[in-house]
Amino acid sequence: MTRRRWLPATGLGAVLAAASSLAAWAVADAQQEERETRVARAADAFADQVATTLERHVTEMELLATTSASPSELRRNATIRLAAVDELAAVAVATGRGDQLVVDTVVPSALGWLNPNDDLHRIDDLRAMLDRVRVDADATAGAPFRVDGEEYVLVGAPLTVGLGAPESDARAAVTGVVLGAVRADAILGPWSGQAALTAPNGLFIGDVHGDAIEMTIELRGRTWILRLEPGASGWPTAAVLVLVVGLALALAAAIVLHVQVVRRRVAEEQAESRSLQLERIADAGARLQQSLDLAELLPAFAVALAQDFDLDGVAVSLLDEDGALVEAFATGDAAGQSIDLPLRRGWRAVGVLSVRPGRTLDRSELTSVQALADLLAVAMSNAQLYEREQLSAARLRDLDALKNAFLGTVSHELRTSMTAIMGFGELLSDSWDTLDDTRRREMANRIRRSAGSLRHLVDDLLDFARLEQERLRVSPRTIDLAGIVRQTVDNLGPLLGRHQVDLRIPGALTAWADPVAVERILANLVSNAAKYSPEGSTVTIIAEPGVDVARLVVADEGPGIPAEERRRIFARFYRLDTPESVRTRGAGIGLAILRDFADRSGARVTVDDAPGGGARFTVDFPTEPVDVLAVAT
Ligand code: ADP
Repeated sequence: MTRRRWLPATGLGAVLAAASSLAAWAVADAQQEERETRVARAADAFADQVATTLERHVTEMELLATTSASPSELRRNATIRLAAVDELAAVAVATGRGDQLVVDTVVPSALGWLNPNDDLHRIDDLRAMLDRVRVDADATAGAPFRVDGEEYVLVGAPLTVGLGAPESDARAAVTGVVLGAVRADAILGPWSGQAALTAPNGLFIGDVHGDAIEMTIELRGRTWILRLEPGASGWPTAAVLVLVVGLALALAAAIVLHVQVVRRRVAEEQAESRSLQLERIADAGARLQQSLDLAELLPAFAVALAQDFDLDGVAVSLLDEDGALVEAFATGDAAGQSIDLPLRRGWRAVGVLSVRPGRTLDRSELTSVQALADLLAVAMSNAQLYEREQLSAARLRDLDALKNAFLGTVSHELRTSMTAIMGFGELLSDSWDTLDDTRRREMANRIRRSAGSLRHLVDDLLDFARLEQERLRVSPRTIDLAGIVRQTVDNLGPLLGRHQVDLRIPGALTAWADPVAVERILANLVSNAAKYSPEGSTVTIIAEPGVDVARLVVADEGPGIPAEERRRIFARFYRLDTPESVRTRGAGIGLAILRDFADRSGARVTVDDAPGGGARFTVDFPTEPVDVLAVAT
């Protein structure tokens, strides 16, 4: 991808670089000719300059030789000239003595072989030049030489008898020579490149390697050869400038183009990725609306999410009622680094969506996954609401069914008791004369029992209605529980007509309770004990003091109540599915009412097994006033 992005920029850069190279080459070519002409002109000018320099120094020696009247004046003048002319390294005076040419004076005192008393004639390299000066009486330049690596050119002028004598006599009477050592770099230095100057005697100063322009210099009738190297050619500055600017422009253009290309590509990729994310969100939204069943919804969502974003694993966890995270669904790999995204409902987190990416997710993908998590949270909330609605609809249906069953039971109860009362009543009145006392009493008892159970039922119904409407008032106060239990058991006599009653009550027992509530509680317990235990068995009723309570116990010898049902029997309309319950009549509200009375009195009701195997209900009444609500919860 990166290489593809660089392609256009590289192409443009290459084209511009090639163009600037061509332009630079053209400029260099055009400037080459001009340069050659310029170099030739400079070489001519330099040759003139070299000739002038040498000529100047020869003339200098002539002047010294002719203007000094005595050897001491010559020395003084030489010293002055040396100080004035920087290019002059030394001046020497030599006198001819026979074949010898002996150095008299050197200013400064010596320069290499130029030492006082040296015979210059013995130096081969100088002989030709010295002969010219001494024999021909010509001032001249020649004989390049080296001392300590320094190069010099020796120039000389003849000394004649009687310094300052007319020239015609001078030639005949040359007595010596005045020699000057001119520094070579004073002659060749000004040339920018390498240069060499060869004297007529073949000796030279300077050095040239490679191609050189060769020129001749005529000096006092003798030919010197000057060789000049044109200097570093290289590319002309203009061409280099064109090349450098061209390349810089090419680079700049390539960079600018690259930046543009990268920006455009990034923008394109972002737009592409955005539309892909939107598509995914839209798809997920549609998918989440397809079902309100969490069991269907979560797997479909998680699998599609894993596919869309190349995830190795997806897990959805929900907060339970205690605030703990419980995994609701998971798919794929559970190991590895995960990204946890909150499932939010409003400002509240209701769970976590954990994803394990198979590759690095970019920012927009992470934003999309969070958006999908939000959609999932909404969908889950809808599903949960729907589930709750379903539950409450089912509960309402159950309640409706319970109500119908209740009405049926109550009607049946009422009709049965009424039928019994009316039947025995009619029989009694129609056959009064034919019935003996025993039969009459028996029928009257039957009527009384039916009326009793009718009354019990009506009492229950009235209590129930009051409880439902929150109109039942319970006003606990300090009472004598033993007295109220004794009186109530008396009143319930007809209910217990077919059972043995074991009543264990102390003389007095203080409790904090509402007498009506105690009566209703006891009536319900005794009625059930009588109803669910076999005829002739014993119903035990105990009132006794407990620890901080006044205890009322009703135990029977019936089938008892299974441990797992002991909580549920206090619910409204709940009846056990036992043969005893099926055989007996009842609306399933007696214990619910009892529980309500107990709660409002601050009493606690428990049920367990009686020692004889039946059911044993225990009601603990407080002995002191209590906070009723606290006890009820
Ligand atoms: P019901 O009118 O059916 O008696 P209750 O609310 O008084 O309604 O009792 C609820 C259920 O608890 C009864 O249907 C019965 O199955 C069970 N039950 C109550 N008391 C006893 C008991 N002493 N022995 C056995 N089962 C009992």
